[in-house]
Amino acid sequence: MPLTLTRSDGVPRLVRDAPIGICITSEDGTYEMVNPAYCAFYGYAEEELLGRPFTLIMPEASQAAMLARHRDFMQGEAEHDDRQEWEVVRRDGERRSIIVESLRQEGDDGRPRRITFITDITERKAMEQRLEFLARHDELTGLLNRRAGLARLEEEISRARRHGTSLCVAICDLDHFKLVNDRHGHAVGDRVLQGATERMEEALRGYDVLARLGGEEFLVILPGARQTEARCAIDRLRERLAATPLGEERIPLTISAGLASLEANEASHLLLERADRALYRAKRDGRNRTLVG
Ligand code: GH3
Ligand code: MG
Ligand code: MG
Repeated sequence: MPLTLTRSDGVPRLVRDAPIGICITSEDGTYEMVNPAYCAFYGYAEEELLGRPFTLIMPEASQAAMLARHRDFMQGEAEHDDRQEWEVVRRDGERRSIIVESLRQEGDDGRPRRITFITDITERKAMEQRLEFLARHDELTGLLNRRAGLARLEEEISRARRHGTSLCVAICDLDHFKLVNDRHGHAVGDRVLQGATERMEEALRGYDVLARLGGEEFLVILPGARQTEARCAIDRLRERLAATPLGEERIPLTISAGLASLEANEASHLLLERADRALYRAKRDGRNRTLVG
């Protein structure tokens, strides 16, 4: 049965009361029907949409492509358009993400129409992005977490092998950090960890990678660096930390570091073990120093 589109019939009650946005557009993409949920979502009154092109709700950069896609669908064979995710813009300029599902039906004038159903997924998407971020990052410092840091190390090792370049890693551990917690409390300890992270990031090059291995222990990956350069970089980082006490409490902080340079065909865990042993010696030899494993 052809779809009744004439305005004199009004919008069918089912469509009017539907909790999801529904619209009908013509072959050239002009709005012919919008239900209240559709208007409410975009922040337009019905009369502001009817007769206007649906690209009104698209960001300018995607309007031409969306219109071309719409025309293809209207002239194509398929009655259902694939489920799509769109970035749209509301009347007040706010961007939202929606899922769009549409089907084509013939109107009572014999011309095809597109009926579109929209679902707002903005919050769900933001939540998914947040969970994705948290799966890879440490919440306190925002650095890559242990799993993501070690995965990144594997990638950097592969890259170094492919390009025949050097690579060093350093494991850095804050010295006597337990005392900071004991003297100033855990909350201050947390802020010191954040401050130390910022200092370390400032001291490193843009393509070095800093990850939190756990607690007050960090992994630095230095792609392209030979041992002497890496040692200079880690010492610079260490000296910068030692020279500037952290926070209102002016808490002095030093780190010990164990450094290792990737050898031919060496597995990542062996490289890390060498760095770890060097770190252990740096602690034993009096802390606030960088030793090479
Ligand atoms: P060392 O110089 O031998 O490394 O001594 P240390 O005190 O730093 O080492 P230890 O392993 O004895 O203690 C580490 C401390 O780091 C204990 C733990 O409570 C603290 N710590 C680990 N993670 C966090 C954190 O996220 N926040 C805070 N505030 N403290 C943390
Ligand atoms: Mg420590
Ligand atoms: Mg530790």
